[in-house]
Amino acid sequence: MAIIGIDLGTTNSLVCVCQDGQVRLVPNSLGQVLTPSVVNVEANGEICVGAVAKERLVTHPSDTAASFKRYMGTEKVFTLAKRSFTPQELSSFVLRQLKEDAERFLGEEVTEAVISVPAYFNDHQRYATREAGRLAGMQVERLINEPSAAALAASRLSGQEEGSYLVFDLGGGTLDVSVVDYFENVIEIIAVSGDNHLGGNDFDEVIARRYCEAVGIIYEELEEHEKASLLRLSEKCKKELTARKEAVLIFGPEGQAFTFTNMLLAESCQNLFDRISQAIKNVLRDSRRTIDEIDEVVLVGGSSRMPVIFLFLQTFLGKSPCMIGSPDEIVAAGVGTYAGIKERKQEIRDLVLTDSCPFTLGTNVANHSDHARPIMSPIIERNSILPSSKIGYYTNAYDGQSHISIGIYQGESYYCEDNIELGKIEMDILPVRKGEAMIEVRFTYDINGILEVEVTDRYQNKTERAVVTSRNFRLSEQELEQRLKELNTYKLASSGGIRTRLVLARGERLFAQLLGDERREIVEVMQRLEKIMNEQNDQKIANSLREAEAVFDRLEGLEP
Ligand code: AMP
Repeated sequence: MAIIGIDLGTTNSLVCVCQDGQVRLVPNSLGQVLTPSVVNVEANGEICVGAVAKERLVTHPSDTAASFKRYMGTEKVFTLAKRSFTPQELSSFVLRQLKEDAERFLGEEVTEAVISVPAYFNDHQRYATREAGRLAGMQVERLINEPSAAALAASRLSGQEEGSYLVFDLGGGTLDVSVVDYFENVIEIIAVSGDNHLGGNDFDEVIARRYCEAVGIIYEELEEHEKASLLRLSEKCKKELTARKEAVLIFGPEGQAFTFTNMLLAESCQNLFDRISQAIKNVLRDSRRTIDEIDEVVLVGGSSRMPVIFLFLQTFLGKSPCMIGSPDEIVAAGVGTYAGIKERKQEIRDLVLTDSCPFTLGTNVANHSDHARPIMSPIIERNSILPSSKIGYYTNAYDGQSHISIGIYQGESYYCEDNIELGKIEMDILPVRKGEAMIEVRFTYDINGILEVEVTDRYQNKTERAVVTSRNFRLSEQELEQRLKELNTYKLASSGGIRTRLVLARGERLFAQLLGDERREIVEVMQRLEKIMNEQNDQKIANSLREAEAVFDRLEGLEP
């Protein structure tokens, strides 16, 4: 039975299979390996996932959702076409689509998957990902951390089996940097760091602002829709700079042109590079490594394609990053490799993934200057290797105190209120003089992300326990079965005629975005296409689709 590997991304997802020892990315029904992680629900309950749904984000925003991975493991509810969905249910539609694509590719049913998750995903988020797999009708064999997958793919593709890797993952909105060791069939994440608010979007904004400065526009004074349009053009300009030396940005009614070069882009992005260097310094410090001890720097994420990033890393690290395959595909290739390894169990039984705890776990201590805002007291610090068991020692805050409340928090912030509260243990203690109570708090965090907390009052030798598995976010087995039945009533749109639907959805989107003559041109093209579709002549339909795509490409300014 085949096990598929899935990179379930915030922007795009990919599915990979291992055939005859070869890792293969599976194309979707449009022939593309990247499927946008976007879900559209039609009034009749039909679900559409991928490129068509992405077009509908603009034209049918209240029926379409994107970026729901950010909310995995939270209680956020999305309402689409007047129906409610949790983030894991939306993810399950993406997984269902990828499963179908893989089944078509393999010609057999798929029931098992390995899915990648960010290294910093907490217990709730990991659990939600497994639940999404179940809701898509698959057993999730294993979750693999994205940097582990990237390191695994890099080691296989470079033919250099073992080593220490620095995985640099720059996406649309986030930066993740990890140090990963791969020795003797053990992949170990040594440290993770990053910046949740740094990605390709920031480079788009730098270009937009630099353009405004050059042509005398005040960026802040632009209307929201003007900003959105300028940012879209800036992103296009940024991507052109990946392929060419120069790119011209033309914007606004007066259409003033300004030429960007990679040199100019690099100069304008100093502040972003400072933040990137900080994240790299943090991960090297936390992993107690120097750059000389890193064998390979692996580039992941769409934004790692930028030449300015490559040059910056080369200069900053004194080492050339390796670009093996496409940075969008490397995590998927790693998950596929891992799925292949799982399939051939006997051969590599000894491959184990060990994890580190990417966040700090701790409890609250009194804040003497502001009693309402207790301070975080770390017990298991971030990047501790799992399993980990640590004890914190505490005492009473005043004479005769007879009760304590031990909060369980996750996060890096100074005040507990800024961290995530995972639970609480209430306990009566023996009243003694201030500072004389002996309270031990033991945190034990295992490889599956289950946290056990024990509080012991040494005077009474009394212990209270709590196991944090965050049940409030979770469905019981029965609820899961029930929801699975309900979700099965939603059918995925058939893959037949997908290209036609994509062209029509794109036409609708461009109509919404453009004005005047361009709109009239879109109407003409769409009407012609719809008329030809009624004639049901495949050759004519194909010609008409090509014609429509050419017009839309031109209107979008995508022509070469
Ligand atoms: P991801 O979240 O990994 O899909 O990354 C998406 C980001 O990569 C977006 O900010 C894109 O603008 C950026 N990106 C994709 N392709 C390129 C390219 N050829 N050159 C520069 N940036 C790109």
